[in-house]
Amino acid sequence: MSQLELLWRLQQHDNRLAQLLLKLKEIENEKRMDDLKVRLKQVEYDITHRKTQKEVDEVKIQRASSKLEQMTCKLSDVEKKLYDGSVSDLKQLTFMSKEAQEIKKESIKLEKDILNLMEETEKLEQELNKSTSLYNALKAEMEKNIEEYKAVAERLKLKIKKEKAALEIILSKLDEEQKIKYSTLKEKKGKVVAEVIDGKCRGCHITIPLFIMCKLKNKDEITYCDNCGRILYYREQGYINTVKTNA
Ligand SMILES: [Zn+2]
Repeated sequence: MSQLELLWRLQQHDNRLAQLLLKLKEIENEKRMDDLKVRLKQVEYDITHRKTQKEVDEVKIQRASSKLEQMTCKLSDVEKKLYDGSVSDLKQLTFMSKEAQEIKKESIKLEKDILNLMEETEKLEQELNKSTSLYNALKAEMEKNIEEYKAVAERLKLKIKKEKAALEIILSKLDEEQKIKYSTLKEKKGKVVAEVIDGKCRGCHITIPLFIMCKLKNKDEITYCDNCGRILYYREQGYINTVKTNA
């Protein structure tokens, strides 16, 4: 294989390797994963917050219920004394009757509070169920993404390995002088070897003079574009396509 052909192939593999490395970097920094992580954290926070709120409400219900129980006992005591005739003092009777009314009033309020709290815990329970379902769905999506990411990354890494191996082979066949020229030009121009299509350099789009075209058609030696300084690569159209697909 001529040095020119080697340079052309070196550039093909070089470009492919750069693209693969870029893709790998892109999937490593994928935004979709970050978004999922943020959402998972939010839902996790919601769940903890609602659980705590529910626990607090349950303690409140317990306290209110035992207080209500005490009230009921007290009321029955007061009412018993009020009606069993053991107390005859009018002043004391009036006081006790007032006390019974107060207890009843307070009991009604406690019952209402308990009902409200029960409603609230029920609502919290529903929200908690919803958040838990959402959390599980997000977690499953996250795990699926991680699996997908791993598979894609593995495939990319394998392709990268193959490209690197192909580059090694080409470089082992390329003259030292050409290697230096290639890296110097790559640093300066990015693209080192420019195809000649329809008599024009694909690097700078200038028309190649006829005498250079003749040289390109007949010899495999390294020829530079007068305008952009890139190495010119000319093949009959059909041949270029074959090389491209095989490379
Ligand atoms: Zn050019």
